Amino acid sequence: MLTPDDLREAGVDALLVTALPNVRYLSGFTGSNGMLLVTPEGTTLFTDPRYTIQAEAETGARVVIAKGPLEPTVWKHCRRFRKIGFENTRISYPVYQSFEKELKLGASLEPFGDRIERRRMVKTPAEIKAIRESVQINSQAFAAALTRFRAGITEADFAAEIEYQMRLLGADKPSFDTIVAFRENSARPHARPGRAKIDGNGLLLTDMGTFRGGYASDMTRCVHLGTPKPQTRKLYRAVLEAQTSALDKIRPGVTAGQVDRAARQALRNHGLEKAFVHSTGHGLGLEIHEAPRLGRKDATRLVPGMAVTVEPGAYLEGTGGVRIEDTVLVTPTGVEILTPTSKSLIVI
Ligand code: ZN
Ligand code: ZN
Repeated sequence: MLTPDDLREAGVDALLVTALPNVRYLSGFTGSNGMLLVTPEGTTLFTDPRYTIQAEAETGARVVIAKGPLEPTVWKHCRRFRKIGFENTRISYPVYQSFEKELKLGASLEPFGDRIERRRMVKTPAEIKAIRESVQINSQAFAAALTRFRAGITEADFAAEIEYQMRLLGADKPSFDTIVAFRENSARPHARPGRAKIDGNGLLLTDMGTFRGGYASDMTRCVHLGTPKPQTRKLYRAVLEAQTSALDKIRPGVTAGQVDRAARQALRNHGLEKAFVHSTGHGLGLEIHEAPRLGRKDATRLVPGMAVTVEPGAYLEGTGGVRIEDTVLVTPTGVEILTPTSKSLIVI
Protein backbone atom coordinates (compact mmCIF):
# COMPACT_ATOMS: atom_id res chain seq x y z
CA MET A 1 0.00 0.00 0.00
CA LEU A 2 3.10 2.22 -0.09
CA THR A 3 4.56 2.53 -3.58
CA PRO A 4 8.08 3.40 -4.72
CA ASP A 5 6.55 6.78 -5.63
CA ASP A 6 5.62 7.38 -1.98
CA LEU A 7 9.22 6.77 -0.97
CA ARG A 8 10.54 9.03 -3.71
CA GLU A 9 8.11 11.79 -2.76
CA ALA A 10 9.33 11.61 0.83
CA GLY A 11 12.94 11.73 -0.36
CA VAL A 12 13.94 8.36 1.12
CA ASP A 13 15.42 5.15 -0.33
CA ALA A 14 13.73 2.94 2.25
CA LEU A 15 11.30 3.26 5.12
CA LEU A 16 11.48 1.69 8.51
CA VAL A 17 8.02 1.15 10.06
CA THR A 18 7.96 0.66 13.82
CA ALA A 19 4.40 1.55 14.89
CA LEU A 20 2.47 -1.73 15.13
CA PRO A 21 -0.81 -0.37 13.72
CA ASN A 22 1.15 0.85 10.68
CA VAL A 23 2.93 -2.51 10.45
CA ARG A 24 -0.50 -4.14 10.40
CA TYR A 25 -1.91 -1.65 7.92
CA LEU A 26 0.91 -2.17 5.44
CA SER A 27 1.49 -5.91 5.87
CA GLY A 28 -1.53 -7.54 7.54
CA PHE A 29 0.65 -8.84 10.38
CA THR A 30 -1.19 -8.68 13.72
CA GLY A 31 1.52 -9.85 16.13
CA SER A 32 2.79 -7.78 19.05
CA ASN A 33 6.40 -7.60 17.90
CA GLY A 34 7.29 -6.57 14.38
CA MET A 35 8.96 -4.00 12.16
CA LEU A 36 8.76 -3.42 8.44
CA LEU A 37 11.34 -2.33 5.95
CA VAL A 38 9.68 -0.89 2.86
CA THR A 39 11.96 -0.53 -0.15
CA PRO A 40 11.31 0.05 -3.87
CA GLU A 41 11.78 -3.72 -4.36
CA GLY A 42 9.23 -4.77 -1.77
CA THR A 43 8.39 -5.07 1.89
CA THR A 44 10.09 -7.19 4.54
CA LEU A 45 8.52 -8.04 7.88
CA PHE A 46 10.82 -8.70 10.82
CA THR A 47 9.44 -10.56 13.81
CA ASP A 48 10.50 -13.17 16.38
CA PRO A 49 10.14 -16.99 16.44
CA ARG A 50 6.82 -16.87 18.37
CA TYR A 51 5.24 -15.53 15.19
CA THR A 52 6.85 -17.72 12.52
CA ILE A 53 3.60 -19.51 11.60
CA GLN A 54 1.35 -16.50 12.07
CA ALA A 55 3.52 -14.15 10.02
CA GLU A 56 3.64 -16.52 7.05
CA ALA A 57 -0.15 -16.89 7.20
CA GLU A 58 -0.99 -13.21 7.57
CA THR A 59 1.33 -11.30 5.28
CA GLY A 60 2.35 -11.25 1.67
CA ALA A 61 5.57 -9.51 2.68
CA ARG A 62 8.86 -11.35 2.88
CA VAL A 63 9.29 -12.62 6.45
CA VAL A 64 12.55 -12.56 8.38
CA ILE A 65 12.58 -14.18 11.81
CA ALA A 66 15.05 -12.56 14.21
CA LYS A 67 16.31 -14.35 17.28
CA GLY A 68 16.50 -11.82 20.10
CA PRO A 69 15.92 -8.09 19.56
CA LEU A 70 14.79 -7.16 16.05
CA GLU A 71 16.98 -4.09 15.60
CA PRO A 72 20.34 -5.75 14.72
CA THR A 73 18.66 -7.96 12.10
CA VAL A 74 16.66 -5.07 10.65
CA TRP A 75 19.78 -2.96 10.54
CA LYS A 76 21.69 -5.55 8.47
CA HIS A 77 18.99 -5.15 5.80
CA CYS A 78 19.22 -1.33 5.94
CA ARG A 79 22.94 -0.97 5.32
CA ARG A 80 22.77 -0.50 1.58
CA PHE A 81 20.41 2.51 1.84
CA ARG A 82 21.57 6.10 2.26
CA LYS A 83 18.38 7.86 3.25
CA ILE A 84 16.25 5.77 5.56
CA GLY A 85 12.84 7.10 6.52
CA PHE A 86 11.62 6.47 10.05
CA GLU A 87 8.43 7.20 11.95
CA ASN A 88 9.62 10.15 13.97
CA THR A 89 6.31 10.58 15.77
CA ARG A 90 6.10 6.95 16.83
CA ILE A 91 9.57 5.42 17.19
CA SER A 92 10.84 4.80 20.70
CA TYR A 93 14.01 6.64 21.63
CA PRO A 94 16.09 3.50 22.40
CA VAL A 95 15.13 1.99 19.03
CA TYR A 96 16.01 5.26 17.29
CA GLN A 97 19.37 5.34 19.06
CA SER A 98 20.16 1.74 18.14
CA PHE A 99 19.72 2.61 14.45
CA GLU A 100 21.48 5.93 14.68
CA LYS A 101 24.65 4.40 16.05
CA GLU A 102 24.84 2.01 13.06
CA LEU A 103 24.65 4.79 10.45
CA LYS A 104 27.65 4.86 8.19
CA LEU A 105 29.19 8.04 6.84
CA GLY A 106 26.85 9.78 4.39
CA ALA A 107 23.78 7.82 5.44
CA SER A 108 20.95 9.45 7.37
CA LEU A 109 17.69 8.76 9.15
CA GLU A 110 14.95 10.95 7.68
CA PRO A 111 11.70 11.80 9.48
CA PHE A 112 8.79 10.30 7.52
CA GLY A 113 6.19 12.22 9.53
CA ASP A 114 2.61 11.02 9.64
CA ARG A 115 2.29 10.03 5.98
CA ILE A 116 1.01 6.56 6.83
CA GLU A 117 -1.50 7.94 9.34
CA ARG A 118 -2.75 10.43 6.72
CA ARG A 119 -3.23 7.56 4.28
CA ARG A 120 -5.07 5.54 6.93
CA MET A 121 -7.67 8.31 7.35
CA VAL A 122 -9.46 7.21 4.18
CA LYS A 123 -10.72 3.69 4.59
CA THR A 124 -10.81 1.00 1.90
CA PRO A 125 -14.08 -0.88 1.26
CA ALA A 126 -12.73 -3.83 3.30
CA GLU A 127 -11.92 -1.51 6.21
CA ILE A 128 -15.36 0.10 6.04
CA LYS A 129 -16.94 -3.35 6.15
CA ALA A 130 -14.95 -4.22 9.27
CA ILE A 131 -15.94 -0.92 10.94
CA ARG A 132 -19.62 -1.55 10.10
CA GLU A 133 -19.42 -4.98 11.75
CA SER A 134 -17.65 -3.54 14.77
CA VAL A 135 -20.34 -0.86 15.16
CA GLN A 136 -23.14 -3.45 14.89
CA ILE A 137 -21.59 -5.70 17.53
CA ASN A 138 -21.05 -2.74 19.82
CA SER A 139 -24.69 -1.65 19.61
CA GLN A 140 -25.91 -5.21 20.08
CA ALA A 141 -23.70 -5.59 23.14
CA PHE A 142 -25.15 -2.40 24.61
CA ALA A 143 -28.73 -3.63 24.03
CA ALA A 144 -27.93 -7.06 25.52
CA ALA A 145 -26.25 -5.54 28.57
CA LEU A 146 -29.19 -3.18 29.12
CA THR A 147 -31.70 -6.05 29.17
CA ARG A 148 -29.57 -7.67 31.89
CA PHE A 149 -29.23 -4.48 33.91
CA ARG A 150 -30.59 -4.60 37.45
CA ALA A 151 -30.66 -1.59 39.78
CA GLY A 152 -28.13 -2.06 42.57
CA ILE A 153 -25.23 -3.37 40.50
CA THR A 154 -22.04 -1.32 40.44
CA GLU A 155 -20.57 0.68 37.56
CA ALA A 156 -17.79 -1.93 37.36
CA ASP A 157 -20.39 -4.76 37.17
CA PHE A 158 -22.15 -3.07 34.26
CA ALA A 159 -18.86 -2.44 32.45
CA ALA A 160 -17.99 -6.14 32.89
CA GLU A 161 -21.41 -7.19 31.53
CA ILE A 162 -20.93 -4.95 28.49
CA GLU A 163 -17.48 -6.33 27.72
CA TYR A 164 -18.72 -9.91 28.24
CA GLN A 165 -21.53 -9.31 25.75
CA MET A 166 -19.06 -7.85 23.24
CA ARG A 167 -17.01 -11.03 23.33
CA LEU A 168 -20.08 -13.26 23.05
CA LEU A 169 -21.18 -11.31 19.99
CA GLY A 170 -17.84 -11.78 18.23
CA ALA A 171 -15.72 -8.79 19.17
CA ASP A 172 -11.94 -9.30 19.33
CA LYS A 173 -11.90 -7.20 22.50
CA PRO A 174 -13.05 -3.77 23.71
CA SER A 175 -11.39 -0.96 21.74
CA PHE A 176 -10.79 0.93 25.03
CA ASP A 177 -11.69 0.52 28.70
CA THR A 178 -15.47 0.78 28.90
CA ILE A 179 -16.70 3.89 30.69
CA VAL A 180 -19.74 3.52 32.96
CA ALA A 181 -20.44 6.60 35.05
CA PHE A 182 -23.46 7.18 37.28
CA ARG A 183 -24.78 10.55 38.48
CA GLU A 184 -22.01 13.07 39.30
CA ASN A 185 -19.34 10.62 38.04
CA SER A 186 -20.63 11.30 34.52
CA ALA A 187 -19.23 14.85 34.81
CA ARG A 188 -15.80 13.31 34.28
CA PRO A 189 -15.56 12.56 30.55
CA HIS A 190 -13.14 9.65 31.08
CA ALA A 191 -14.50 8.32 34.36
CA ARG A 192 -13.30 4.88 35.41
CA PRO A 193 -16.14 2.57 36.45
CA GLY A 194 -15.92 1.98 40.18
CA ARG A 195 -17.78 0.39 43.07
CA ALA A 196 -20.52 3.05 43.01
CA LYS A 197 -23.94 1.38 43.00
CA ILE A 198 -26.26 2.26 40.14
CA ASP A 199 -29.47 2.68 42.09
CA GLY A 200 -32.20 5.24 42.64
CA ASN A 201 -32.77 8.21 40.35
CA GLY A 202 -29.94 9.41 38.13
CA LEU A 203 -28.18 9.65 34.80
CA LEU A 204 -25.99 6.77 33.63
CA LEU A 205 -23.42 7.43 30.92
CA THR A 206 -21.86 4.54 28.99
CA ASP A 207 -19.02 4.96 26.49
CA MET A 208 -18.00 1.73 24.81
CA GLY A 209 -16.32 0.34 21.72
CA THR A 210 -15.22 -2.95 20.21
CA PHE A 211 -12.47 -4.12 17.93
CA ARG A 212 -13.70 -6.49 15.26
CA GLY A 213 -11.32 -7.81 12.63
CA GLY A 214 -8.90 -5.27 14.09
CA TYR A 215 -11.23 -2.28 13.49
CA ALA A 216 -12.70 -0.04 16.15
CA SER A 217 -16.16 1.25 16.92
CA ASP A 218 -17.07 3.85 19.54
CA MET A 219 -20.42 4.90 21.01
CA THR A 220 -21.66 6.88 24.00
CA ARG A 221 -25.23 6.70 25.22
CA CYS A 222 -27.00 7.99 28.32
CA VAL A 223 -29.84 6.24 30.07
CA HIS A 224 -31.77 7.58 33.02
CA LEU A 225 -32.88 5.60 36.06
CA GLY A 226 -36.27 6.91 37.03
CA THR A 227 -37.84 10.12 35.78
CA PRO A 228 -35.26 12.74 34.71
CA LYS A 229 -35.44 16.21 36.21
CA PRO A 230 -36.38 18.98 33.75
CA GLN A 231 -32.80 20.35 33.85
CA THR A 232 -31.40 16.92 32.94
CA ARG A 233 -33.73 16.74 29.94
CA LYS A 234 -32.64 20.25 28.98
CA LEU A 235 -28.97 19.32 29.18
CA TYR A 236 -29.63 16.21 27.13
CA ARG A 237 -31.51 18.15 24.45
CA ALA A 238 -28.72 20.72 24.19
CA VAL A 239 -26.05 18.03 23.66
CA LEU A 240 -28.24 16.21 21.15
CA GLU A 241 -28.71 19.47 19.28
CA ALA A 242 -24.93 19.97 19.23
CA GLN A 243 -24.43 16.44 17.95
CA THR A 244 -27.05 16.92 15.22
CA SER A 245 -25.48 20.26 14.20
CA ALA A 246 -22.08 18.60 13.86
CA LEU A 247 -23.51 15.67 11.88
CA ASP A 248 -25.37 18.07 9.56
CA LYS A 249 -22.10 19.84 8.85
CA ILE A 250 -20.25 16.74 7.67
CA ARG A 251 -19.68 16.43 3.95
CA PRO A 252 -16.64 16.24 1.66
CA GLY A 253 -14.65 19.48 1.53
CA VAL A 254 -15.65 20.70 4.99
CA THR A 255 -12.78 20.87 7.48
CA ALA A 256 -12.65 18.87 10.71
CA GLY A 257 -12.47 22.21 12.54
CA GLN A 258 -15.73 23.41 10.98
CA VAL A 259 -17.54 20.32 12.27
CA ASP A 260 -16.16 21.02 15.75
CA ARG A 261 -17.30 24.64 15.54
CA ALA A 262 -20.85 23.60 14.63
CA ALA A 263 -21.12 21.54 17.83
CA ARG A 264 -19.53 24.30 19.91
CA GLN A 265 -21.87 26.96 18.51
CA ALA A 266 -24.94 24.88 19.38
CA LEU A 267 -23.74 24.48 22.98
CA ARG A 268 -22.89 28.18 23.18
CA ASN A 269 -26.52 28.94 22.31
CA HIS A 270 -27.45 27.07 25.50
CA GLY A 271 -24.75 28.73 27.60
CA LEU A 272 -22.87 25.43 27.76
CA GLU A 273 -19.75 26.21 25.74
CA LYS A 274 -17.50 26.08 28.81
CA ALA A 275 -19.00 22.72 29.82
CA PHE A 276 -17.73 21.14 26.57
CA VAL A 277 -14.15 20.28 27.49
CA HIS A 278 -12.97 18.05 24.65
CA SER A 279 -13.00 17.94 20.87
CA THR A 280 -16.06 16.91 18.87
CA GLY A 281 -14.67 13.66 17.59
CA HIS A 282 -11.81 11.63 16.14
CA GLY A 283 -11.01 9.30 13.32
CA LEU A 284 -10.98 5.60 14.14
CA GLY A 285 -9.86 2.42 12.43
CA LEU A 286 -7.02 0.11 13.47
CA GLU A 287 -6.70 2.44 16.47
CA ILE A 288 -9.47 3.95 18.55
CA HIS A 289 -8.02 7.44 18.14
CA GLU A 290 -6.74 8.30 14.69
CA ALA A 291 -6.52 11.34 12.45
CA PRO A 292 -8.37 13.50 11.77
CA ARG A 293 -9.25 15.08 15.05
CA LEU A 294 -12.55 16.93 14.93
CA GLY A 295 -11.11 19.76 16.98
CA ARG A 296 -10.89 23.52 16.65
CA LYS A 297 -7.50 23.58 14.97
CA ASP A 298 -7.66 20.60 12.63
CA ALA A 299 -7.83 21.91 9.06
CA THR A 300 -8.06 18.44 7.47
CA ARG A 301 -10.68 18.47 4.74
CA LEU A 302 -13.13 15.61 4.98
CA VAL A 303 -13.22 13.18 2.07
CA PRO A 304 -15.46 10.19 1.36
CA GLY A 305 -14.29 7.07 3.17
CA MET A 306 -13.22 8.76 6.40
CA ALA A 307 -14.61 7.10 9.52
CA VAL A 308 -14.96 9.44 12.49
CA THR A 309 -16.85 9.78 15.73
CA VAL A 310 -19.12 12.70 16.57
CA GLU A 311 -19.34 13.09 20.33
CA PRO A 312 -20.02 16.48 21.86
CA GLY A 313 -20.71 16.55 25.58
CA ALA A 314 -21.48 18.92 28.42
CA TYR A 315 -20.18 18.29 31.94
CA LEU A 316 -21.37 20.01 35.09
CA GLU A 317 -19.25 19.34 38.15
CA GLY A 318 -21.23 17.96 41.07
CA THR A 319 -24.25 17.32 38.87
CA GLY A 320 -23.31 15.12 35.95
CA GLY A 321 -22.55 15.09 32.28
CA VAL A 322 -24.08 14.10 28.98
CA ARG A 323 -22.24 12.90 25.90
CA ILE A 324 -23.78 11.46 22.75
CA GLU A 325 -21.46 9.66 20.36
CA ASP A 326 -21.92 7.93 17.03
CA THR A 327 -19.45 6.35 14.65
CA VAL A 328 -20.05 7.79 11.19
CA LEU A 329 -18.76 7.55 7.64
CA VAL A 330 -18.11 10.49 5.32
CA THR A 331 -19.90 9.72 2.04
CA PRO A 332 -19.73 11.45 -1.37
CA THR A 333 -22.87 13.42 -0.49
CA GLY A 334 -22.60 13.89 3.26
CA VAL A 335 -22.58 11.50 6.16
CA GLU A 336 -23.82 8.03 7.02
CA ILE A 337 -24.45 7.42 10.70
CA LEU A 338 -23.30 3.85 11.22
CA THR A 339 -24.39 3.52 14.86
CA PRO A 340 -27.95 2.11 14.88
CA THR A 341 -28.72 2.69 18.60
CA SER A 342 -31.50 5.21 19.30
CA LYS A 343 -30.46 8.61 20.64
CA SER A 344 -33.56 9.46 22.63
CA LEU A 345 -32.86 9.55 26.37
CA ILE A 346 -33.72 6.03 27.47
CA VAL A 347 -35.59 5.96 30.80
CA ILE A 348 -35.31 2.67 32.68
ZN1 ZN B 1 -16.36 6.93 23.05
ZN1 ZN C 1 -14.69 8.57 20.96
